[in-house]
Amino acid sequence: MSVELREVPLPSIGDDDVLLAVGAVSVCGSDVHQAWCTHSWPVNTPVTLGHEFGGTIAALGANVTGFREGDRVVSETAAVICGQCAMCRSGRYNLCPTRKGFGYGIDGAMAAYVRVPARCLHHVPDALPLDLACLTEPHAVAYNAMCVNVMIRPGDTVIVLGPGPIGLLCARMAALSGASPLIVVGLTADRERLDTARALGATHTIDAATEDLDEIVRDLAPLGADVVCDASGASRTLQAALRLVRPDGQITKVGWSPEPLAVDLNPLVQKNVRLQGSFSHNWPIWERVLHLLAAGLTGAEKIVGLRAGLEDWREAFDAMHEGRVIKSVLLPAGRAEAPPLHHREGSNHGEVSNGSISS
Ligand SMILES: [Zn+2]
Ligand SMILES: [Zn+2]
Repeated sequence: MSVELREVPLPSIGDDDVLLAVGAVSVCGSDVHQAWCTHSWPVNTPVTLGHEFGGTIAALGANVTGFREGDRVVSETAAVICGQCAMCRSGRYNLCPTRKGFGYGIDGAMAAYVRVPARCLHHVPDALPLDLACLTEPHAVAYNAMCVNVMIRPGDTVIVLGPGPIGLLCARMAALSGASPLIVVGLTADRERLDTARALGATHTIDAATEDLDEIVRDLAPLGADVVCDASGASRTLQAALRLVRPDGQITKVGWSPEPLAVDLNPLVQKNVRLQGSFSHNWPIWERVLHLLAAGLTGAEKIVGLRAGLEDWREAFDAMHEGRVIKSVLLPAGRAEAPPLHHREGSNHGEVSNGSISS
């Protein structure tokens, strides 16, 4: 475990920033990976964790328009972008090579206050409480993976591999897109998550450890699935995705893993399959997701298993790490005295302080 509560100064803001009083920040699988040093991306330590957040504007820089003090907002994650490259100029700034996100590249929101560039902000509809609005980010990841980077038509057979928070939200987006049958695949330890998958619209759930995944899929879709979403944190599921997808089908890959893998890619060619990576999200995705959340269409509350103050961060992280809850939400608001949660200096990449590491 490489995080701790630490006192830090109130962030100072520039002319294009706001100071946000954090109302709610959900714990991401990536926060848990960073805490246990099982992440596969560079972390700019020491850094305050947290990139899934919403809050109330406490102060505005001189150039900020369209927002006022007291506005309830959520923030996108691309805290630093160049603004000049072709990706930035075409609105795909999430793919800017210089992008730095909150919580690993720059101080995040597991704190009473966070500095946010105003271009990252979205207004939160009145009907949407902040402890659900903070889940806009993972929903936007799922929306990009299922509704932008692949196309699902009503009646398509869709398989989601990996019922973690992102996999479950991908399943929900597939359900909203009319997928049927919608099959979510996990392991025996995922039993409760698979129950949640059904609550979110899965027509079938499969325990790949005890059931014959290929046979069940073959019965439902003899040619294979129209779309397979690889939302697993293990590289080897790509092999299953290549096996389960139909000829001329699509694979959307949103799960990360540090392990390199020797995969037989011949089915990709032989079946004329499109393999599409999916990373992050951008402005139009956020606006659509906020609409879905405010309309109650995402089932967001079904994935939140624990709400806690910042001082109880350890239980919030442990509960996710041990698989007791799908998602924890930290609530710094009203606890302005609480110090932020820090990824300690020198704790990047593999160094662990207490040996409770898991992959
Ligand atoms: Zn996240
Ligand atoms: Zn750029």
